[in-house]
Amino acid sequence: MATKPPKADPVQDAPQVAEPKHAAAGLPAIGHSLRMAQQQMGVKRTALTLLRVNQKDGFDCPGCAWPEPDHRHAAEFCENGAKAVAEEATLRRVTPEFFAAHPVADLATRSGYWLGQQGRLTHPMYLPEGGEHYEPVSWERAFDIVAEEMTALASPDEAVFYTSGRTSNEAAFLYQLFARELGTNNLPDCSNMCHESSGSALSETIGIGKGSVLLEDLYKADLIIVAGQNPGTNHPRMLSALEKAKAGGAKIITVNPLPEAGMERFKNPQTPQGMLKGAALTDLFLHIRIGGDQALFRLLNKLILAEHDSASGAGSGAVDEAFVREHTHGFEEFAEAARAADWDETLTATGLTRAEIEQALRMVLASERTIVCWAMGLTQHKHSVPTIREVVNFLLLRGNIGRPGAGVCPVRGHSNVQGDRTMGIFERPAPAFLDALEKEFGFAPPREHGFDVVRAIRALRDGEAKVFFAMGGNFVSASPDTEVTEAAMRRARLTVHVSTKLNRSHVVTGARALILPTLGRTERDLQGGGEQFVTVEDSMGLVHASRGRLEPASRHLLSEPAIVCRLACRVLGESSRTPWGEFEKDYAAIRDRIARVIPGFEDFNARVARPGGFALPHAPRDERRFPTATGKANFTAAPVEYPKVPEGRLLLQTLRSHDQYNTTIYGLDDRYRGIKNGRRVVMINPEDAQRLNLADGSYVDLVSEWQDGIERRAPGFRVVHYPTARGCAAAYYPETNVLVPLDATADTSNTPASKSVVVRLEQSATD
Ligand code: SF4
Repeated sequence: MATKPPKADPVQDAPQVAEPKHAAAGLPAIGHSLRMAQQQMGVKRTALTLLRVNQKDGFDCPGCAWPEPDHRHAAEFCENGAKAVAEEATLRRVTPEFFAAHPVADLATRSGYWLGQQGRLTHPMYLPEGGEHYEPVSWERAFDIVAEEMTALASPDEAVFYTSGRTSNEAAFLYQLFARELGTNNLPDCSNMCHESSGSALSETIGIGKGSVLLEDLYKADLIIVAGQNPGTNHPRMLSALEKAKAGGAKIITVNPLPEAGMERFKNPQTPQGMLKGAALTDLFLHIRIGGDQALFRLLNKLILAEHDSASGAGSGAVDEAFVREHTHGFEEFAEAARAADWDETLTATGLTRAEIEQALRMVLASERTIVCWAMGLTQHKHSVPTIREVVNFLLLRGNIGRPGAGVCPVRGHSNVQGDRTMGIFERPAPAFLDALEKEFGFAPPREHGFDVVRAIRALRDGEAKVFFAMGGNFVSASPDTEVTEAAMRRARLTVHVSTKLNRSHVVTGARALILPTLGRTERDLQGGGEQFVTVEDSMGLVHASRGRLEPASRHLLSEPAIVCRLACRVLGESSRTPWGEFEKDYAAIRDRIARVIPGFEDFNARVARPGGFALPHAPRDERRFPTATGKANFTAAPVEYPKVPEGRLLLQTLRSHDQYNTTIYGLDDRYRGIKNGRRVVMINPEDAQRLNLADGSYVDLVSEWQDGIERRAPGFRVVHYPTARGCAAAYYPETNVLVPLDATADTSNTPASKSVVVRLEQSATD
């Protein structure tokens, strides 16, 4: 039987702390998955639903974007996938009566966890100006309200259209089309906050902002470097792929400021051997300081060049000369910068020993096929773009792009975040994309660049934007500088959220606010043209169908494509020649248009009908062709940077707990790190704790220091002595987003630098 949502917010400030675990998954993961699923869905629905996740005729997991193997198990999901599905397919409901009982002011005092636990939204809800409660509203009236505010804008650029990574390809394509027909490129997305640095660096260096490996490549690799990533919590089925790669002879180097259980040992729940003993994954753990990755890869590049230049190394193949000659540009300048890399500076930047780096070098030189995987640990620093460019330098040097078993592998966080970008959710669209839209739909799309996330917040803060529309997500909790972001949202004339569940963004509102409840991935989508399916693109560029089968949580829900179509009809009216009604009825009609606008989607409907879908073309991977400005893969030679931390301060990274997916909090435990029943913890190295006189179990306020002179404070965190790298600390977001200044962003990509926040720890008043 499913259980009821918690009435009171649970006590969150008394975390219990035990030793961190050294293995991930196994029986405990199965137990936790089933317990959480059953609490939300009951036994029968749990079985019916989980057996359809990630199956070829089932629905795509709403969790991360890790790809499915061609041969699928009956249970093709991980613990976090099960939690994501359970949250969506929950039997709990948030009805108009709930809103009548809870004024917005009351909801604003609740934790994100409590809000999420209340269940699925059932009705469109409206908060009128000056109102205290959300009230039920008809869909027609809801669209009228949006139209009133949008048509009153002095310019379409006063509207912001945010997208979260769950949105399907079909909905995303329509959504960007609507925004551009309205006349704006203000299409920020969650990618601005996560892998924008990867996209920027890869577009410039290899000509496409996506990873260049497929799942099979991992199985063929000799060496896989996993840098700044915690797959055990964030992309758990990646562990199966790493296990298989190791069984095929691959070595793994893990580069991270924290040891993470999943990269230590994986207990594969699909095999008896895995359940009993598991497999050790990491061959070499580089316990790097936060932000030291560029320096590490730069030094490795120097050492590879030195090996090649030395008498014993000449002709040894340390550098793939033929590849460098035929396929790359900028080698000389890069090589000069790499040869100047300094051992002492690298040891300071990384906190590693000479012996560790030399061991890594031996493994690199012994490998003919190398893949580098990474996630937010590399992308959310001021110098993230040059860091990822240096990773590309490292791979180019030995010809590790465009051949089997080798390449770049940025691992995407949300299930369709990559697909949404492919569909045109981007504030800086390529001219060729806009030309294709213009030709297909017969209107002149705006050419001016729009707002990304950070610029959108500034525009709302400064009164330049007045309507904020979110297709999914939890913008307020995902964004940096919480107090600034919340104040910015409150200045809007209208905030609108298309959502499945309640979250904090619904209770930090503009003068007027709407919640538009939508179908989830698990649910049947019936339209005038019959039962529909949608499509998604995974982290490796494979596009496939997703079909929900459950009855919708309420008969008042609309699908995301239907919401966009009706909204577009109402707002654009006669001025639009786009057949919105036809698109709402039959999503195949949307896919036909996508096929004509976006390269790689030719014959979309026929190809996606094949079980498993199809792979999008990727010129560097498929043909060693690099569609860059130079027509070749570009070496780069940026100066090495790393965070400098003043005496008495620590460098904080914000991260997720194991009971969390992005901003969704499933529970209050972080099992692998030994933390239970609380989220306000700060993990610091015991030697730093001793130096700073911070006992384990004491309480501190985290105070961030930034060049704007404003001190940002997150109060009441329990100190946990933890094996973080020296000088580094870690604490969960969104609680610590308040510490990340809006203007602290990565150069070029403008991604909030949430992984390198200088903080001082002050004894807390709550201690
Ligand atoms: S690895 Fe990601 S996509 Fe796969 S089941 Fe887990 S959360 Fe879902």
